[in-house]
Parts: sequence; structure tokens; C-alpha cells
Amino acid sequence: MNDTLLMLPGPVNVAPNVLAAMSKGIVNHRGAEFGKIYNETCDAMSRVFKTDNQSYIFTSSGTGGMEAAIANIANPKEKILSVVGGKFGERFADIARVHGINVEELAVEWGTAVTPEAIEAALEADENIKAVSLIHNETSTGVAAPIKEIGKVMKNYDALFVVDTVSSLGGDEVDVDKFGIDVCVTGSQKCLAAPPGLSMITLSDDAWKAVEGVNPQTYYFNMKKYRDSGNKNPAQTPYTPSVSLIYGLQEALNDIEKEGLDNRVARHHLNAEASRNASKALGFELFAEEEHASCTVTALKIPEGLTDDDIRGTMLNKYGVQLAGGQDHLKGNVFRIGHMGVTNYKELAITFTALGMTLKEKGVDVDAGAGVAALADTYIN
Ligand code: PLP
Repeated sequence: MNDTLLMLPGPVNVAPNVLAAMSKGIVNHRGAEFGKIYNETCDAMSRVFKTDNQSYIFTSSGTGGMEAAIANIANPKEKILSVVGGKFGERFADIARVHGINVEELAVEWGTAVTPEAIEAALEADENIKAVSLIHNETSTGVAAPIKEIGKVMKNYDALFVVDTVSSLGGDEVDVDKFGIDVCVTGSQKCLAAPPGLSMITLSDDAWKAVEGVNPQTYYFNMKKYRDSGNKNPAQTPYTPSVSLIYGLQEALNDIEKEGLDNRVARHHLNAEASRNASKALGFELFAEEEHASCTVTALKIPEGLTDDDIRGTMLNKYGVQLAGGQDHLKGNVFRIGHMGVTNYKELAITFTALGMTLKEKGVDVDAGAGVAALADTYIN
């Protein structure tokens, strides 16, 4: 058993009961027993998405869900507006291009959030935009986009609102129906605290109308097939699903219901605030503008004179705490602390204790306990 503490923005530590649930025997994926489990798990997903619409499960990582979200709602040559402010925004745009869709990029400086006004201006300027794709929580930069406010703007336009909540659903506030999200996609291995390997999607009535007019350039991720198989009795997926992972996801979703989704979101916000305070107390600078800082991952600049290996290497090899590095041009300049899923003050206390010691032994003039003191202040006040 690997006892490294995963403080990654996914995959995250998974609770023992979730791991145990996956050791149950495999059942026929076309039989009644699995149909019941699949239906219950999809229903539980709809409750976490906060939608009255049906949810579907793909045996794929989050990127598969992203591909399904795009490929089913636009034909080649149709236009989508793609907000790009980090690696995953780029991925959404790239996926659309692979499917022959005409992409208009709305570029946002990495570390900042897109504004509702910018989206409104783009939609005003071009009535041919069929959909807007947006990453709610840009995991590469630690920025959360104001999806609630953007949703208000989107309601004035016909364009579909396609949102990736891969690293936010179950950790930050996402209300698919209230925010007017037409296609929402997420992954199992982040805030939901299940193992990697599943992605989940839900579509509004408007999105389904678009699906009817699209000939998707994908075989595996054809939404109509998931809908038709899901409507069978017993409910099914079109192709063999990962039965064991679905057992695990169902257990993880049960845990979310026991905690209460709103309590869980509040816990993530408090842990994020504690992490930012502890980071600043140790002298780190946040990469993301604080007003839009993510509540599931904190991105920090690597201080001058230190390397990524000084920090992440020491944290892993000496203290057994795994942090994430920067991506693309942020490699070597930024590192990231994931605090999503079941992560709480215990894990953050270990992480910031080790981070303080790491800085001290690398010669930084810092009070090694300042991070933990700031954590305590945040939790106790
Ligand atoms: N979208 C976001 C916001 C992510 O953080 C990630 C993964 O880190 C993905 C999509 C892609 O998910 P996966 O790596 O599971 O394919």
C-alpha cells in the first residue's frame, strides 16, 4: 500500500470504504442487478450536478467526457466560442478543432478569470456562435470562473453553455439547472473522491435538441447511444462499463450525501482559505488572482532561488507528500497543492508542516511553523 499523501489536484486520496466497495464481485452489465446500480448512480450524479435532467457515465477519464460534451452538440464547420485561460481551456478548444468545429478563442491571461462581460461582448459580436465552452475550475492555474454570473449572461442568448466541472463538482458551487448550464461534464478522481477512470455528463433539453441535429464525429462517445441504452430495462451503457469503478463511484456519492453537498462545498472553501493563508504566511505568492482563487487547488509561485525539485522533490522524497508541478510554460515556475475530495485540516497540517520544514532546510529565512499557525488561525476564527 502506497502511504504517500496525495495532495494533487486529482487523483485524490480515496476513502477505504470506497476502495472496499470496488472489491465486490462483477455482475452482468446487461442484467437487472447492474441496471439498478447504474440507475441509482446516475440519479445520485444528477443530485450532485443539481439537475432534474438525466446523467450518464462513461468509462473514460475526464477528457473523454470533454470530448462527448463538444462532439455531440456541434457539426463540423459550426462555430463555438472557447474560453482559454489555461491548459484545460486549451484542451476544450483543441477537441473542438479535432472534430472540425470552427473555434473562436476567447483568450484570458493565465491566473485570471474570464468576465461575464467578455463573454457577452463575444456573443453580441457574432450570432453564429452555437456554444460557449468554459472550464469552471482551471486546474492548471488555480482559477475558478464565475459560472453563476456567466450563466446569467448566457440566458440572454441561444448559444449553449458547455461547462467542464472536472475539478470542481462536489467541491465548489455548481448548480446546473439554476446556472443554466446546458452540458456539464465532470470526472471521478477529483472532488468526488472516487478512483480515476470515469467521467459523467448531463445535458439540458436545449442541448438534446442540438444533439438531434448533429452527426457526431465519434463512435464511443455518441450521446444518443448512451441515452438509448440508459432507457432500456434494465438500464445499460452501450459498451461494457467499468463495473467496479461504478461500485466505487456509487459509494463515494453516498459519502457525499451523508456529508451533505452544501457542507462539503463549505469545507472546500474553508480548506482553500486556510491553504492560502498558510501559503502566504510561509512567504509564497499565489499564482491566481485571489478574488477568483480556486477552492479545490492552490497554485503557488516557486520563490526565486528555489527550484521545483527543491520544493516538490523534498516534499515527496523526505516527507511523503505529493504535490503537483506547473504545466506547460508554468513548469518550474509554479507548483500546486490539491485540497479536494476527502482532504481536510489533517492533511493540510501535514502538508504545511512539511512545506515549512522544506523551506527552512533549503535556506529560506522563514518561521517553519508559520504555515501551520495560519491554518490554526483560519480554522479557529
Ligand atoms: N478538465 C479539468 C479542469 C481537469 O483538471 C482535468 C484533469 O486534471 C481534465 C479536464 C482532464 O481529466 P482527465 O485527466 O481525467 O482526462
